[in-house]
Amino acid sequence: MRKPLRHTERHRSGRNSWLRAAVLGSDDAIVSTASLMLGVAASSASKEAILVAGVAGLVAGAMSMGAGEYVSVSSQRDAEQADIEVEKEELALHPQAELNELAMIYVKRGVDKELAIKVAEQLSAKNRLDAHLRDELGIEKGALARPLQAAWISAASFATFAMVPIVALLVVPATFRIYAIAILSLVSLAVLGAVGGRLGGASVGRAALRVTIGGGLAMGVTAAIGRLVGVSVG
Ligand SMILES: [Zn+2]
Repeated sequence: MRKPLRHTERHRSGRNSWLRAAVLGSDDAIVSTASLMLGVAASSASKEAILVAGVAGLVAGAMSMGAGEYVSVSSQRDAEQADIEVEKEELALHPQAELNELAMIYVKRGVDKELAIKVAEQLSAKNRLDAHLRDELGIEKGALARPLQAAWISAASFATFAMVPIVALLVVPATFRIYAIAILSLVSLAVLGAVGGRLGGASVGRAALRVTIGGGLAMGVTAAIGRLVGVSVG
């Protein structure tokens, strides 16, 4: 019955979740840092001023992404932990009812009642808590939310991708500065959009187009406002 060689379809949902988070955070990094720099550049600021804006944007963005991710994953972690505590208590107080509950979960998934009871008993004998967490609550012990890891990954990802417009500023002559920042950032966005679309199993072209148009709009608006403010103040 089993054909291991042909069992090669790729499941995308749930896989690479931290990688997807990193890719999504990287869009933010490019769009916000490039927009910030273009806004300053459009006010005819010096290279130094644009660089300071870019670096400040990088640091602020990385910090805020890291802190935000830490808070959000921590609360997910707290919820998981609370669920685990409740389940432990239930198992201690009502072992028989909990065993029936587990068996009924397998019945609902299509297992015959007698067999379901056996499965529930055997899984409970091996590790009762794990069986309940996995099949009743959908919590895998090895895949619990990790706030520090999530914070570190999103901060590092933001800082890395915020370098794209900064590098463009540093390597391109002043005349082409604004175009270089915009074009290099948009190309990077398109590539990341394609990668994100591929990871999510969605249309690669559409995903790339979406982030590129969104990013282009953000940069255009910020540059226009930077120009207006630059003209009115300067
Ligand atoms: Zn239970």
